[in-house]
Amino acid sequence: MAKHKTHYEDCDVLVVGGGMAGTGATFEARHWGRDLKIICVEKANIDRSGAVAQGLYAINCYMGMQWGENQPEDHVRYARNDLMGMVREDLGYDMARHVDSTVHMFDEWGLPMMKNEKTGRYLREGKWQIMIHGESYKPIVAEAAKKSADKIYNRIMVTHLLMDESQENRIGGAVGFNMRTGDFHVFRAKTVIVAAGGASHIFKPRAVGEGMGRTWYAPWSNGSAYALPIAVGAKMTQMENRIVLCRFKDGYGPVGAYFLHLKTYTQNANGENYEKKWYDQTKELVGEYIDHHPTPTCLRNHAFIQETIAGGGPIHMVTTEAFQDPHLETVGWENFLGMTVGQAVVWASQNIDPKYTNPELTTSEPYVMGSHATCSGAWVSGPEDLSPPEYFWGYNRMLTIDGLFGAGDTVGGSAHKFSSGSFTEGRLAAKAAVKYIEDQKAGGIKVSDKQCEDFKTAVYKPLENYTVGQNEITGGTVSPSYISPIQGLQRLQRIMDEYVGGIATNYMTNGNMLKRGLELLAWLEEDLENVGAEDYHQLMRAWELKHRALTSQCVTEHTMFREETRWPGYYYRGDHMKLDDDNWHCLTVSRRDPNTGKFAMEKVPVYHIVDENEKKKAS
Ligand SMILES: Cc1cc2nc3c(=O)[nH]c(=O)nc-3n(C[C@H](O)[C@H](O)[C@H](O)COP(=O)(O)OP(=O)(O)OC[C@H]3O[C@@H](n4cnc5c(N)ncnc54)[C@H](O)[C@@H]3O)c2cc1C
Repeated sequence: MAKHKTHYEDCDVLVVGGGMAGTGATFEARHWGRDLKIICVEKANIDRSGAVAQGLYAINCYMGMQWGENQPEDHVRYARNDLMGMVREDLGYDMARHVDSTVHMFDEWGLPMMKNEKTGRYLREGKWQIMIHGESYKPIVAEAAKKSADKIYNRIMVTHLLMDESQENRIGGAVGFNMRTGDFHVFRAKTVIVAAGGASHIFKPRAVGEGMGRTWYAPWSNGSAYALPIAVGAKMTQMENRIVLCRFKDGYGPVGAYFLHLKTYTQNANGENYEKKWYDQTKELVGEYIDHHPTPTCLRNHAFIQETIAGGGPIHMVTTEAFQDPHLETVGWENFLGMTVGQAVVWASQNIDPKYTNPELTTSEPYVMGSHATCSGAWVSGPEDLSPPEYFWGYNRMLTIDGLFGAGDTVGGSAHKFSSGSFTEGRLAAKAAVKYIEDQKAGGIKVSDKQCEDFKTAVYKPLENYTVGQNEITGGTVSPSYISPIQGLQRLQRIMDEYVGGIATNYMTNGNMLKRGLELLAWLEEDLENVGAEDYHQLMRAWELKHRALTSQCVTEHTMFREETRWPGYYYRGDHMKLDDDNWHCLTVSRRDPNTGKFAMEKVPVYHIVDENEKKKAS
């Protein structure tokens, strides 16, 4: 290990991941902690990292309170409805009441916002979305973080969190390695904010072979946001609540602007409105939830999936009407150019001009995340003025480990934050982290050299595995002693796909399949001790895989625990096909024991805070 130099850095606030939430956290930490040492560590380069790397065409979460357009309560009702009742309303409300101020800062910082010419307000794409020329969205927010941090470390992948050795259950920092130099980095920190994005590529993607690597969610989102806290025993929530997206086929081009702004609609191969056909069947499964407005996203997926299974596909988006309007035609194309150029390229390669041909849609493989229309992630404390006692333990957005905070995709229970809400949640977490330090909660943290050295040995083991194991290869690239990261990834994806409700089974799973999936995941975990990496890039792939595998275990445990089908269209428990409000109107929470690797599961009440007072008055 001597060949890898070790660098030590001591700081007050350590932000892991410089995406939307991480840049928000870095910026806000400086606002409240003028004299604190603030460090942000990023796997890529914060100028173009995370899910917003390529840019966005809309900010999906803006209340418009200054114009009386929406109130935070409205957003809570919306997210609650979309997630079939299962959200942390304290977290959602807290984000929503602050998100407008974040968007106003983006405007001040030079993000080109589209305006409604008549009203002068931000141009709405839908009730919650406002439209932007967002190709440079990420560099703009990155600049704010760069001006706020003492130092930004790019190209360092954080592999493990450090724990304080003087006080139980308290954070001590994080370690990682530089993917260019190979150096080992130890960050001893009083507080850590994990903002490392969601998890793609844990389920086998539709795009394989020549399209390998193409996914809807960012391919580099590898579940570190979940694996880092899970590994140290932090509690997680709603990890079963994966998301499946309806997207344009092959390019995963987004459909939001098409539905909301261009008013396009879907139909089956015979030109029929297939959603209506599945109304009665869906009502059988979920009861009155199918009558909610807007129809929850999973239930629209459900109709799509059932129609396809019944032979009604391909499903098309009807663009040929809207695209006759030159303005809408331009918007339709620009929507991709600012966000998913690949979709335009796919259409060009398949000779599809949406003005004359209705393009095909598909449902994606599942993803795990906490900021989009789904709410998997860490179980965190809410704000003191809103949260019931079971949801509050001292500091907003603090996980169940003292001094460890989360934001964005990391945080569970609070869906529909999107880019602006994730940045906002980063700000909220940072404010609380600074208060934690000011309250003298971070005194006397001890991180021994041994703890760091042990991690160093573990981090570089894949290089060692390769160096030794390659000598045993007698032909080709297959070694008897190690597996490569891509081999391990494909094995993981097949386990998740075939046993945990991926595309192979039309999102179907059951208790027996999940049990088998867990067995196979345990063996994979064992084999990942022997993953081999030939260079630092492959070393990153090896650690990404390990984080994905741990995240997958947690997802599978949660899916096994919730014995109902709460979100048909995201996944189905064939042995419990109906939504079961009597037994499962609750949040699921897990904790993995770091010593034994065993998960313990519990049910936690879901409190409907918004409208509850009105209901009480009425009764
Ligand atoms: C295709 C797509 C379309 C979207 N469309 C919209 C939209 O139109 N409007 C909207 O408002 N939102 C949209 N979103 C959602 C928005 O992008 C996310 O909600 C937001 O980026 C989440 O913020 P985050 O900070 O949690 O994650 P990210 O922004 O993804 O940031 C995570 C960061 O952590 C880094 N990282 C990961 N692992 C490690 C590690 N181990 N060590 C160090 N660093 C690490 C990553 O490199 C990354 O920079 C879209 C997302 C996607 C993928």
